[in-house]
Amino acid sequence: MTKVLIVGRPNVGKSSLFNRLVRQRRSLVLDRPGVTRDIIKGSAVWWGHSFEVWDSGGLMWDASSSVIFSAVQDHVQSACKEADLIVFVMDAHLGLHDEDKKIFKWVKDKKHLLVVNKVDHPHAFESQLSEFYELGSDFIQTSLEKDDNISVIVDWVIKNSTSTKSKEIDKTSILITGQSNVGKSSLCNLILNKNRMVTSSEMHTTVDVVDETFQYNKKKYEILDTAGIRKKSKRLENLEKISSAKSLSYFKKADLLLLVIDGQQKFSRQDARLFSYCMEKHKTTILVINKWDISEVTKMGMRKMIRQELRYFPDIPCVFTSAKTGEGLGRLMKAISECVKKSSIHISTSALNKFFIEVVQQAPAPVYGTKNVKFYYLTQTKKTPPSFIIFTNEPKGVSSSYQKFLVKKIQEKYSLKGIPIQTTFIKKS
Ligand code: GDP
Ligand code: GDP
Repeated sequence: MTKVLIVGRPNVGKSSLFNRLVRQRRSLVLDRPGVTRDIIKGSAVWWGHSFEVWDSGGLMWDASSSVIFSAVQDHVQSACKEADLIVFVMDAHLGLHDEDKKIFKWVKDKKHLLVVNKVDHPHAFESQLSEFYELGSDFIQTSLEKDDNISVIVDWVIKNSTSTKSKEIDKTSILITGQSNVGKSSLCNLILNKNRMVTSSEMHTTVDVVDETFQYNKKKYEILDTAGIRKKSKRLENLEKISSAKSLSYFKKADLLLLVIDGQQKFSRQDARLFSYCMEKHKTTILVINKWDISEVTKMGMRKMIRQELRYFPDIPCVFTSAKTGEGLGRLMKAISECVKKSSIHISTSALNKFFIEVVQQAPAPVYGTKNVKFYYLTQTKKTPPSFIIFTNEPKGVSSSYQKFLVKKIQEKYSLKGIPIQTTFIKKS
């Protein structure tokens, strides 16, 4: 996990930052220097990413003189070496301090972020702020007391973290869901029989949990809860059940859902509700219309019925299959791998912003009360499905229809139609 070390002179706001990042009052905040004694470690989870936060508070300082203890310099330097990222906090009220310059020497060769804190009122400290340019490095201004710009620090940490990449080499978890008797268990068997891996060593069998792994086009997948599907457990069959704790954990774990319906029957309200639920939770979902061998409806007729019921989700991937004859299995496998590929896209921040700025210039957000809603920039924070954080002056002012419009634009631009991408609006001053 990425280790983020917070350094700085006493009283600049290190423990305040630590507490906000780990969102727990783990270290004391008192208005006097040197209250934290050792390196304090906490874990933080933001926007789906985890990292460790280290507060170097007590390690570095002589409690009385606010000058670095020469004896602890080695400790500080080794902590800097061990950390992956360093956030160096300084105090706007006091301007650039000689001790700051000393600390900067230790951090400048590592990936670091300079934070000038206690800028409670922008413009109030302009002359002090200009001093910080002497370090020859860019800095951000925060007011930790007012929770200002913490998101910018988090954004920097996430962008520079290594931990975010681990998911890519992993396998994709698939959950097969739908009402009873639609053919979930038959489809599960069909997929596994055709694509089963030679060794099934990764099958974990406990009383009622079996997740089976298979391979398709050199990619690894697992089907979650195959025992539950085969046992014809009613567990995953409807929306109410999905909120039960156990099914919910499968649902959360799944990267991709196959929502199976019976092609002989009408597309039901229940199916539509389940589908909307999956979209709300940003789960990439393929609609599998099974028993196509005995259906009397035409594909066009079925598509029309689905479009009517799911008019808010016009681009959902649909595949017609027969678990009995094997028809459509190839198309299903292709749809699975396409969805996985799409939902694991990573878009560079600069490309994304270039496009985004054009979009918001051409169609600005509606005025909120008397305020213009401004957007600063956006960044992709997560894959599978792609999630974006958009920094704005007024998160509350972004209407849901404007949010939908932005989502649609991103989907069109990056071929993500049918992928339920997630957008979060964060306030930035
Ligand atoms: P540390 O010694 O570097 O860990 O600093 P602390 O987090 O303990 O903060 C020292 C003092 O500065 C506390 O009284 C905080 O309330 C105060 N403080 C922290 N951030 C801000 C800020 O943004 N603005 C102002 N005005 N005070 C702050
Ligand atoms: P589940 O309850 O959703 O797991 O459904 P099952 O896989 O147990 O299937 C229910 C019944 O439908 C069984 O009798 C299957 O043989 C049958 N069935 C499943 N898929 C198909 C299909 O594609 N075509 C036909 N004709 N029958 C199917």
